[in-house]
Amino acid sequence: MSIPPSRLLVLAGPTAVGKGTVSAAVRETHPEVWISVSATTRKPRPGEVHGRHYWFVSEDEFDAMVAEGRLLEWATVHSAARYGTPRGPVEEALAAGRPAMLEIDLQGARQVRETMPEALFVFLAPPSWEELVRRLVGRGTESEAERARRLETARVEMAAEDEFDVTIVNREVHQAADELVALMTLGARPGPSTPRLE
Ligand code: 5GP
Repeated sequence: MSIPPSRLLVLAGPTAVGKGTVSAAVRETHPEVWISVSATTRKPRPGEVHGRHYWFVSEDEFDAMVAEGRLLEWATVHSAARYGTPRGPVEEALAAGRPAMLEIDLQGARQVRETMPEALFVFLAPPSWEELVRRLVGRGTESEAERARRLETARVEMAAEDEFDVTIVNREVHQAADELVALMTLGARPGPSTPRLE
């Protein structure tokens, strides 16, 4: 499979599939790739750092970012908090010629498709639905009600795979990270094509 290289890659996929872990692996092993830091109204989890994992902002600050057009896209995720991609840093990274990556939810990916259709849209899929449920429960940072809500979101998100240019199955984090970077820099997916989910 060969795809034209795109310097802007949008990574989406169901909740708990491991988007954050895969993008952390890209950050660690491919420092040449610029990764957007989103703004969010959600409270930080233990260990999360302002400016590194997210820009943790108040509802008022988020409102101002929306009103002033400072977000490339934004969405309310899991009916809970708002998340958005600051526009300026993305434009600067692309102007500087760096490969850039956004890790966002499906609603956000659809907005970017409207405004930046030349981006490459990648769906990160779990090896199976059972594995996704295991990962979601295993994380253990959410309440029962929150988990149920995220599972419901994940079911809807899984159905959107066909909207994406490429699917990468997250079997092993570093392999998925390497495949993503190859898409940004070579425009081709290394290795044999990935079998599809049932
Ligand atoms: P979490 O709260 O677990 O860090 O992230 C929840 C969800 O928000 C994930 O699906 C993640 O992809 C999504 N998300 C993170 N940043 C953004 C963003 O800037 N825009 C949008 N639309 N979704 C985001």
